[in-house]
Order: sequence, then C-alpha cells, then structure tokens
Amino acid sequence: MIVQKFGGTSVADIEKIKRVAQRVTQTYEQGNDVVVVISALGDTTDRLIKLAKEICDRPPEREMDMLLSTGEQMSVALLSMAIHSLGYQAISFTGAQVGIVTDSTHTKAKIIDIKVARILEELSKGRIVIVAGFQGVSLDDHITTLGRGGSDTTAVALAASLGAEVCEIYTDVEGVFTADPRLVPEARKIDRITYDEMLEMAATGAKVMQLRSVEFGRNYGVVIHVRSNFSDNEGTWITDSEERMEKAIIRGVTHDVTEAKITLMGVPDRPGIAAYLFRCLADANINVDMIIQNVGENNQADISFTISRDDLDKVKSIMEKVVEELGARGFDCDEEIAKISLIGAGMKTHPGVAADMFSALAEHNINIEMISTSSIKISCVIKASEVQKAVQAVHRKFGLDKGVVMHG
Ligand code: ADP
Ligand code: ASP
Ligand code: MG
Repeated sequence: MIVQKFGGTSVADIEKIKRVAQRVTQTYEQGNDVVVVISALGDTTDRLIKLAKEICDRPPEREMDMLLSTGEQMSVALLSMAIHSLGYQAISFTGAQVGIVTDSTHTKAKIIDIKVARILEELSKGRIVIVAGFQGVSLDDHITTLGRGGSDTTAVALAASLGAEVCEIYTDVEGVFTADPRLVPEARKIDRITYDEMLEMAATGAKVMQLRSVEFGRNYGVVIHVRSNFSDNEGTWITDSEERMEKAIIRGVTHDVTEAKITLMGVPDRPGIAAYLFRCLADANINVDMIIQNVGENNQADISFTISRDDLDKVKSIMEKVVEELGARGFDCDEEIAKISLIGAGMKTHPGVAADMFSALAEHNINIEMISTSSIKISCVIKASEVQKAVQAVHRKFGLDKGVVMHG
C-alpha cells in the first residue's frame, strides 16, 4: 500500500490534475493499493482566507474551517473524475467521511484518531481512494482544519494508520534542500535525513513538510519520500536510519518570516511573572517560540518572545490585559523580523558552530536580536529585510553548496 500526497502546486490547473491522475493510475497498475491525499487547487486556500478577511478582520474560527475545507473538497472530486476518465475506479472522500477525528481547536486541530475501515473497504473493491487533505471532524461533529500545510499531516497520519509501505509527498521541488531553493539557488538536495533533523527543519520554517506530519512520521516509523511532481527523480528519504549517506555535521539552513516579536516592558523581576504571562498565552492556544528575558535597572525586567503572525490580533488583546494585571510599562510588537536557523545532528559534538554562524552574520553586518539553541539547532532573530543575505551567507560559510560539510 502506498499513500501519495500532492500539494497545491501539483494540482494548480486541469492539465496538472490530469497528470496527477496518470501518476496515480501508474502506481495502481504496478500492483499497489493507492490512497491519495490532495490539497486545494493552487492558491485556493489563500484566496478563501482573503475573501473571509474582506468580510471581517477576525472571522469566527469555526466558520473559517467550514470555508477552508471546501478547497480540498473541490480538488478530490476533480481528481476522482480525472481517474475515472482514464478508465479506473476511484472514490473521493472528505476528512469527516473517512473518520479523521480531531480535537476541536479550529484552524489548527490535531488528529486524535483515524477510522480506516471505510478506506480499507473501498480498496478491497479495487478502487483508488482519494482523501481531502488538511481537514477532519471534531468529536462534537464540527469540521476542523489542521493548520497551513496540513495535507502533509493527513497523508502521513493515514500512512501510519494504514501501515503503508511509504508515504510519498509530491511537491514543486525535487526534495528537501540544504536551504529553500527559492532563496539560495546553489542549495543542494539532501538524499537522506533523519526524523529529528527534519523535525527541526520543519519547526524552523522549511515549509516543504508541515511540522506535525514529521512528528507523526517519527512516532509511527512512517517512511516518507519527498519528491517532485514534475519529474521521476528520486527525492529525499526521511527515516530514522542512523547510517548516513553523507557524514554531514550541518544539514541545512532554514528561515521563517511568519513570526512576530512581542516585548513586554518593565515588569517586576519576581517569581510568577513569566508563569502568568505564558499561561495566559497557552490558555488561548498560542504557540510561543523563542523567549528571552533581560533584567535591567530598578529590578524591572523586559520579556521578549516570538509568535506566529497569524496569532497577532489575539496576542495583542491578551497583552493589553497582562500589562494591566502586572502593572508593566507596556508592550511592543515587531512584525519585521525573520528567524534563521542552522540544523545538524553533528553540531552536538563540534564546538564552534555557533561562533561560525554568528561570524557569518557579522561579516555581512547583520545584527542578531535573539538567539536560541538546542543540541542540533541554532536560531537567530534578525531584521526581515536581511533574511536572504543572511541565509546565503550562513549556507556559504558552512560550505553547504559544496557537498559534504566538515566543520573546522
Ligand atoms: P505543496 O503545495 O506541495 O505542499 P509547499 O509550498 O507547502 O508545497 O512546500 C514546497 C516549498 O517549500 C518549495 O517550493 C520551497 O520554496 C519551500 N521550501 C522551504 N524550505 C525548503 C527546503 N529546505 N527544501 C525544499 N523546499 C523548501
Ligand atoms: N490547502 C492547505 C494550505 O494551503 C493545506 C495544504 O496545502 O497542505 O495550507
Ligand atoms: Mg505544503
């Protein structure tokens, strides 16, 4: 059994949908059971969001999910028709119809269960099953969506539940690269990457795979193959195999321009302040990424943190309340930031990687506003306008354009 996922660019128009139908039926002809997950056509999701925003600034999230889920419902039906016209049997389903059950966090719901009986029944009749990506149904029967890029998660979660041999992610690039090929033309395709490294890359902005899809892959051992819809070339294999094709220390450089930085200014430096602030944010389902605190004069502290810009309106109203409750001096938002990260399992055992990254930025006169590290990642917040220069500089500093990277 094979699960194949096609992203929005792969089904952007009727010709492309027909091409997808051909690829799917070829896989079927090779003797496989095929489950297909697809995204909405081209930029449909963006256009739907824009429509909603023309009606109100903060549309109710439940209704947002009703609206956004229609994008994928349209594409599954069209693909099914295209497969039928090639003389094969196919059947399309919404997430709810095949029992993709989620929690009720509208617009970023988490899958909690998948009931595969219906899919298995259709496969046993010799049909190709097509499932709408990015959507599910909550326990109390509301339509939910899984966050931007969520079709990846639908595909990997289905592959896990069905015990598929491989989950193929077809997209508009040849695989996972050492940096976003749109920003760094000399970036190289990575042949093999571990779940842990891919998790860090996804978490820090390599949107080629949604973060949660990689978590599913790791937790259930799903072999993922990210490859191009426009060629037959081998792409990138994501597995937990430790045996590397290349003994690389640094895997790649990622960037993220979707965050904003919030600074809470002049709060008393005493126990419980951070706990209160981050509890308020967590209760509103806001994910916080980087955090730093500086204690200044008069025992007063500033706390800065980054969040997704999509959550900015929600966060602003929470901050107004927090400033008042804590008697803080105020808060500030900066939307013109970017985060650049260096990822690699080998950096654990190689001192000096952080220093080299900071030098690469310094050599280009790029100021670092925040830093955070983990054992396999270093992230810096910089000005958004400098992101391309920064990614290229760091990519070059570590020789990622030249193949196997040995530090030092
Ligand atoms: P799809 O519509 O197929 O889901 P996405 O737009 O979500 O496609 O993801 C593919 C895009 O991810 C590529 O076009 C590329 O610009 C971007 N990307 C960012 N970082 C990377 C990376 N490290 N490797 C490959 N692609 C990347
Ligand atoms: N259509 C959704 C989006 O644009 C889901 C996806 O493409 O994975 O985010
Ligand atoms: Mg995507």
